[in-house]
Amino acid sequence: MIVVGNWKMYFGPEPSELVGLGAIVCPPYTRLLDCVEAGLTTYAQNVHWEPEGAFTGEISAPMLLELGVRGSLVGHSERRQYFGETDEGVGRRTRYALSAGLHVVACVGETLEERKAGETENVLRRQVSVLEPHERLVVAYEPVWAIGTGHTATPEMAQEAHELVKSLLDVPVIYGGSVKPDNAAGLFAQPDVDGALVGGASLDVESFAAICQAAARIPS
Ligand code: PEP
Repeated sequence: MIVVGNWKMYFGPEPSELVGLGAIVCPPYTRLLDCVEAGLTTYAQNVHWEPEGAFTGEISAPMLLELGVRGSLVGHSERRQYFGETDEGVGRRTRYALSAGLHVVACVGETLEERKAGETENVLRRQVSVLEPHERLVVAYEPVWAIGTGHTATPEMAQEAHELVKSLLDVPVIYGGSVKPDNAAGLFAQPDVDGALVGGASLDVESFAAICQAAARIPS
């Protein structure tokens, strides 16, 4: 099971408190080095598709690797929703990051309107179509309506989406969207759920530890 904590634009917990949980952490850029130095497996929250250039506000794979960062999220729904990131850009970021040696967690997922309109499968097919299988690639299925809302997908809904994604791309698929200690075990019990991308609950050390422990109880 792969458990990833996304701290978003929050300072997050003390890295030393997360040592030994076996999780991946995605802190804001200013805390990357603290996490690396604490010995945590540390990913960034985004990465650009060029090694360097005139791209104010962006960060590149070689810069992250130089810090000891091992991977990055790409295509988080907040990047797509608030910063105009497109499927094409997600594909470019992912391809370059993988070729530079980073691990990538590429995020996909439908909005509430798309789910209600019966478009979930088409959206996932479109978003996954820009990705190619790679040993360092993981997909995070994150229904947008479940992120930060407290409305988690049921284990059956997650399983259905993960099964579809895996039929399109042979990589591990983790679930994200209001994962908490009380719903983690049910999600992890699904055959195609390979872990969790945890936002809000990763900011609280006890909650995050409980989710990591639930993951560790699933036989590999
Ligand atoms: C996320 O940030 O990707 C996320 C899933 O957040 P939350 O767990 O708070 O819904």
